[in-house]
Formats: sequence, C-alpha cells, structure tokens
Amino acid sequence: MSGPAIRLTGLRKSFGVVNAVDGVDLEIADGEFFSMLGPSGSGKTTVLRLIAGFESPTAGTVELAGVDVTRRPPYERDVNTVFQDYALFPHMSVLDNVAYGLRVRGTGRRERHERAEEALRSVRLEGYGARRPAQLSGGQRQRVALARALVNRPKVLLLDEPLGALDLKLREEMQVELKALQRQVGITFVFVTHDQEEALTMSDRVAVFSGGRVEQVAAPAELYERPASPFVAGFVGTSNQFAGADVIGRSGTFSLRPEKIRLDGDGDCAAAGKVAEVVYAGAFTRLVVDLDAGPRMVVLLTSAPGLPALRGQAVRLTWSSSDLIALD
Ligand code: ATP
Repeated sequence: MSGPAIRLTGLRKSFGVVNAVDGVDLEIADGEFFSMLGPSGSGKTTVLRLIAGFESPTAGTVELAGVDVTRRPPYERDVNTVFQDYALFPHMSVLDNVAYGLRVRGTGRRERHERAEEALRSVRLEGYGARRPAQLSGGQRQRVALARALVNRPKVLLLDEPLGALDLKLREEMQVELKALQRQVGITFVFVTHDQEEALTMSDRVAVFSGGRVEQVAAPAELYERPASPFVAGFVGTSNQFAGADVIGRSGTFSLRPEKIRLDGDGDCAAAGKVAEVVYAGAFTRLVVDLDAGPRMVVLLTSAPGLPALRGQAVRLTWSSSDLIALD
C-alpha cells in the first residue's frame, strides 16, 4: 500500500437540490493532524461521513492509503470516528465500552482487556475501567470515547466536533491533550470544527470550507498571515478589510490584522480617527476606531491603565505597509 493516508478527488455530494459537497480535492498525509474548518452548513461533516463511508458520493473518489474505497462499506475502511455526543453505552462499564469494538471483531477476552487498559492509559484514565459513564465528568467521558476509537488501532481517526459539548476551560485542556495524544500514537487525525482558534492551535494543516468547497489549505501560520481570499481573512482571526483607495491611496482590497495597528507608533502608514468603543479584556484591550476618511477599524492593544479613557478621543493609527494583506 502507498499514497497519502487520504486522497479525495472531485468529491461531490448532493441531497436533493443542496450541493453539500461541491467538488473537493484533498490529500491528507500519513500521521498528519488535519482540520476541516468552516461555518455551519459548509460541508465539513458530510466530507467526514464520505471518508468514513456513512454516505456515498454523488461523484468523485475516496482513497485510503492508495486504495480506492469509494464503494466499500464503513467496516471495510481502516478508519474510526469519534462523534460529539460520545455515544457511550450507559449500562456498560468504561472498560467494556472501550473493548466493545474488539468484542465485535471476535478478539479474545484477555487480549480485549489488555488492549482496553492500554487505550485507557493512553488517555490518562487508568483505574477508571470499572466505572459507568454516568460516574465520569464530561471531559473523562470524551476521553473514553477517544480510547474506544483508538483501541482498534485504526490508521485514521475522524473526529466530528469532539470537544463541542465541553465548557471552555475543559475544551482548552482537551485541545492540548488531544494534540499530545495524536503525536504519541502517530495516527492520522481528521478533525472537524467551526472554531478557528481550535483549528489553528491543534493542526498541522487546515482546510477552510465555504459552501461545500475548499477555499484554502495551509498550515495555521500561513492561513493567518497569507489568507487566499476575503472569506478566509474574515473567518480565520479578526481582520479589518477595506478599499485601499480610501485609507492608503492605493487601489485594491486589503486586510489588516488588529494586532498590527499601533496608537501613534512606528510605521509608514497612518490614519486619523475617533475611538468609538473600548473593550477591556484583561490581557488586551480592543478599540473600535472610526477613521475620518475610511471605515471602522478594530485595534488590539496590550492593556495599559490609560486605555479605557480613550473613548471619544481623536487618535492617530499607525502600521507598517508590510503588514497589509492584498486580497485581490
Ligand atoms: P455544521 O458545522 O453545522 O455541522 P457542516 O459544515 O458540517 O455544518 P454539513 O453537515 O456537511 O455541514 O451540511 C452541509 C449541507 O448539506 C447543509 O446545507 C445541510 O443542511 C445539508 N445536509 C447535510 N446532510 C443532509 C441530509 N442527510 N439530507 C439533506 N441535507 C443534508
């Protein structure tokens, strides 16, 4: 077997008149942490289901490790899926939940238990095997779902918004854990999320979806620094988008990240405006500034005691022309 872990070619899926997936080509490398990011309804989950085999495409092919599996049922594909709602069996112990997939495959009791224990160790739930899912916290239940997906040692793990049900703090902890786990087990992860920060912090590469198509595939830093379209610039991070003629006397559409703007600091570009809003957020303060000649700009500044007093004040914004991203 050879080829990338996953190759999607000309993939389409229609539900009646809805083109949920509208011509997707993607290659995902072996051992990669790959995220599919996009707003609700952009087709991410449908692509995941096409990879798993829960849906069959209207057109196009799905290859796993160089083998065309487009017409094969889910159980003949070397992938496992982790869903947002975990879908644990409430009446079974944690250990039996994790071992379930092995039992279905006819693995003997002793090996089943050994491998389930090992999978529980890998998600740091050693010693929890005898409990029922109801006796665990949300984060622990999510880790049981992961262990259950890992126990079959699949080549590819598909994760559909697996952290969506967790509160923010737990979610951030699990992001770090999941990334570490992926590195440790070396399995290809395909991760669906609509949370841009989550995608940026965890992934080797990210595909940004819009309307059933891929707008851009890139490493997180490249996605943020060099967005390929106005959509990507707006969806990944906050961006000030404006017509260059208004603000800098150049034609074209530009994006400028809020943290690249300073208050009367260095930079070869400058614009005068008035502060409309000041939002204090601890580590930083966000200013909304209405330019005298031009649009409203968001500015992110490291917090300083005097900043809240700026509301209503006239200010001069400065930035470097090298931080402007041309969007046409
Ligand atoms: P979300 O983040 O909300 O899960 P998504 O990006 O994963 O969104 P999909 O679930 O792939 O998007 O849906 C893409 C489009 O296809 C949507 O317009 C959705 O309503 C439609 N769709 C998905 N599944 C079906 C189905 N079984 N029948 C009809 N339409 C569907």
